[in-house]
Amino acid sequence: MGFFKVEDSNLKARAKRDRWVRQGKTPFGQKVLVDTPPVYEAVTRRFPMVHDKAVVFSYGDKVYNPQGIAIPYEILAHEALHGERQDTYGVERWWDEYLKDKLFRLEEEFDAHMVEWEHLKSWATNRHERRAFEALVSKKLASPIYDFGIKRLTLREMMRRGTLDGTS
Ligand SMILES: [Zn+2]
Repeated sequence: MGFFKVEDSNLKARAKRDRWVRQGKTPFGQKVLVDTPPVYEAVTRRFPMVHDKAVVFSYGDKVYNPQGIAIPYEILAHEALHGERQDTYGVERWWDEYLKDKLFRLEEEFDAHMVEWEHLKSWATNRHERRAFEALVSKKLASPIYDFGIKRLTLREMMRRGTLDGTS
């Protein structure tokens, strides 16, 4: 599950708009559908905040885009990792764990945000942009939408170390 703010697209180093996908095939091979995912009811019950944001949902090799918004490239990469894990783990089981197990959700989102961050970092042209991307991704990971209850600066440290070790 990934979300983004449309205004983040103002950041200078953003990938070009033509690499964003609203519907159809993505560069990572998923198929984006303008529709709600099969788990939508359960997800909105668990995370009511998804109503207030631009949120997309992976379900195996599909990405559900209920609002029909153009999805940034690095979010497609984030979702591609979820999709791979879901295929390996079993997509229904993955969502089940994701909704009920905070640590599982944290592990999955940490790795997906690291992928997202790697793409953003590779586009940064100076340290200000690198810092802005780091702040952006750590802020997203700390968002109440995921309900981790971990401070942004703690998550940022974990991102810098590249591991969640020391969480529990
Ligand atoms: Zn996610």
